[in-house]
Amino acid sequence: MRPLGFFDGRIVELDEKIVAMEDRGHQFGDGIYEATRIYNGKCFQLKRHLDRCVRSLRELKIPIVYTYEELEEIHYSLIQASGITNGFIYFQITRGTAPREHGFPKNVIPHLSMFIRPMQTKTELQAVGVKCFLTPDQRWLRCDIKSLNLLGNVLAKQAAHDAKCFEAVMYREDKNLITEGSSSNFFIVKDEVIWTHPINNLILKGITRTILLEDIIPSLNLTILEKAFSPEFAQKADEAFITSTSLEVMPVISLGGKIIGDGKPGKITQKLQRAYREKAHQECK
Ligand code: PMP
Repeated sequence: MRPLGFFDGRIVELDEKIVAMEDRGHQFGDGIYEATRIYNGKCFQLKRHLDRCVRSLRELKIPIVYTYEELEEIHYSLIQASGITNGFIYFQITRGTAPREHGFPKNVIPHLSMFIRPMQTKTELQAVGVKCFLTPDQRWLRCDIKSLNLLGNVLAKQAAHDAKCFEAVMYREDKNLITEGSSSNFFIVKDEVIWTHPINNLILKGITRTILLEDIIPSLNLTILEKAFSPEFAQKADEAFITSTSLEVMPVISLGGKIIGDGKPGKITQKLQRAYREKAHQECK
């Protein structure tokens, strides 16, 4: 079992030097990415990830030159070649390689690269929850596109780590409203209502978020409200949690130095956590 990459139609070692100097992903962050979870040797919810990939490409006017079947085939060839059964696959598609000019180049082909790494579910952390840092959202206004430009997210995450927190929860300063985590969606529970930011240009439509909203919350007969809220409101919530492909449903036990609820993972959060794991288990048998 070892991490492996895929580049230009072949399986490669992760440290192979293969990116062209003038690849636009490398120079402008001009591309998109996806990260998919592998459970028991199977891709979880690949269709939803590929749908979001296609949407990101369309929004950036990058031509779509790979079919779902091809992308799925490359995912499974990496799983097979690496021997990794529990892991994650990252892939990115850049606009291509051309002399460095800001405007779109003509006659270039988008470039796909992909890799697989082992990943285990963070069950111990999921059982106790994490502390989150609060920080202004300094990103651009198209956070709905899963673009390679992640500097706002990177700086927020590092500020969280510097403050000994696991994740940064960001808020837009103009309206004092929480958007999302630096690499996760953010939820609170107040009086048994689950709140999260609505889908618009200010957040990424997380696949884990979609699975909760479309599949799990209705099946558990819980109440969801897609409405933005302030950091102060969140700090007074009964429960809070973050979601992502790698974290699944991760309880948040403190936010910006304030303890959430009784400082332990909440009951509704734990219900969602269990239901999500069960779904992954069922689909990737
Ligand atoms: N928001 C941001 C900014 C992210 O980077 C991620 C993780 N890619 C998410 C939300 C969660 O998305 P998903 O559930 O698809 O992993």
